[in-house]
Amino acid sequence: MMDYDILIVGGGMVGASLACALKDVPFKVGVIEAVRMAAEHQPSFDARAIAMAEGSRRIFETLGLWPAMAQMGVTPIEHIHVSDRGHFGASRLHAEAYGVEALGYVVEAEHIGQALNPALEALPNVEMICPAQVTSLEFQPEQVEVGIERQGEQKDQQQVITARLVVAADGGHSAVRELVGTRVLRLGYGQTAVITTVTTDREHGGVAYERFTDSGPLALLPCDDHHQMMPEGLQKHRWSLVWTARDEEVDELLALSDEQFIHRLQQRFGNRAGNFVSCGQRHNYPLGLQYVREHVSPRLAFIGNAAHTLHPVAGQGFNLGLRDVAVLAEVLADAAVQSLDPGDMQSLKSYSDWRRPDHLKVMGLTDSLVRLFSNKALPVRLSRNLGLLAMDILPPVKRLLARQTMGLAGRLSRLARGLPLVKSGQGE
Ligand SMILES: Cc1cc2nc3c(=O)[nH]c(=O)nc-3n(C[C@H](O)[C@H](O)[C@H](O)COP(=O)(O)OP(=O)(O)OC[C@H]3O[C@@H](n4cnc5c(N)ncnc54)[C@H](O)[C@@H]3O)c2cc1C
Repeated sequence: MMDYDILIVGGGMVGASLACALKDVPFKVGVIEAVRMAAEHQPSFDARAIAMAEGSRRIFETLGLWPAMAQMGVTPIEHIHVSDRGHFGASRLHAEAYGVEALGYVVEAEHIGQALNPALEALPNVEMICPAQVTSLEFQPEQVEVGIERQGEQKDQQQVITARLVVAADGGHSAVRELVGTRVLRLGYGQTAVITTVTTDREHGGVAYERFTDSGPLALLPCDDHHQMMPEGLQKHRWSLVWTARDEEVDELLALSDEQFIHRLQQRFGNRAGNFVSCGQRHNYPLGLQYVREHVSPRLAFIGNAAHTLHPVAGQGFNLGLRDVAVLAEVLADAAVQSLDPGDMQSLKSYSDWRRPDHLKVMGLTDSLVRLFSNKALPVRLSRNLGLLAMDILPPVKRLLARQTMGLAGRLSRLARGLPLVKSGQGE
């Protein structure tokens, strides 16, 4: 008797979303998570604020999870402003031009965890195996034998459990990838992101800024103070900052006093968002690009950061991972309806074929933005300014980019179209 039909390794943003998406699919699901299930402890639900695309909002809406996130507090992005420091080009996107309420939503990672974790624990077909780590994987024709080591109170308890499909959702340092020896393409940028929250003397007005500087891009996302830490009337003066710096600059940036940091930020960013007044605690993340060569093999699939880790310049990593979730959940739901084995290569291959064009497009866009705007050669600088201007002038180019950033390009999953995975009566 098999312990699980599907075993998800990693209960972070992407793994937990997949388990929630499988709620009505008649498979028994296990989630192995290394860190105790509490949004404040799990690294996936840390101090980051995530720019969630409209397509991602739609997926969470269909799964019934959006209201919980919205209730905790999300900030609509109504305008996006892209510029290049010290140059003339700029481009602007406006939600109303695309007939949507917002181009995306800023959601604090912690709030994503606070919405996902209770939903996960309430699902009858999902079991949490936590805190625990995978120590071995043995792929056999009919099943996978998964060695796990439980931590916490049941410390060092070794155990072997079985599943028909293993889904690796264990992030950019995926242990599953290491155990299986999956080939990974890796590119470094020599850049690290420093993140914090900042406040300004002006309201954010729903504008997200992306400003390219010679050391790397600066992103400022509007992020209302839903924690009510700020004085009355200043809730809309708060932003989430992602400052991409060269690796060698980071120690200095982290060591600056708050006052010095704000001053440096003002110099780099200019005053289009107003004057910076204060900043919160700073955290840093080394950046790079990683991509697994094969997303699937018999009884194994990769999703989220375990499959692809991106530079955060375009705010696409989680959105891409959530689209993996929606597609994998759809092919698994279809497999269940046809009484197929969830680890069957036919379903896994349709997941991988469906997702690859989106992965390549988003990785290509992200990587070229980083490289193009880190290049100091004059012809490149001129052409990127012209590029930003042209993008502002040419509606079709902008429309394409907007659809891509809103997560509404290409073939959409049922969840992104507002349709349930399993029609009522099918899941029984
Ligand atoms: C500075 C920054 C800003 C970003 N901003 C955006 C944005 O605006 N928009 C956007 O879409 N994306 C953004 N991203 C990307 C986004 O954060 C990631 O894509 C997302 O966190 C990926 O989620 P994941 O669940 O795949 O991986 P992770 O978040 O890494 O989660 C992995 C989970 O697996 C668990 N785990 C790890 N190893 C094991 C193991 N051996 N066994 C069991 N469990 C394990 C971990 O505890 C964790 O819970 C940003 C990233 C950075 C660094």
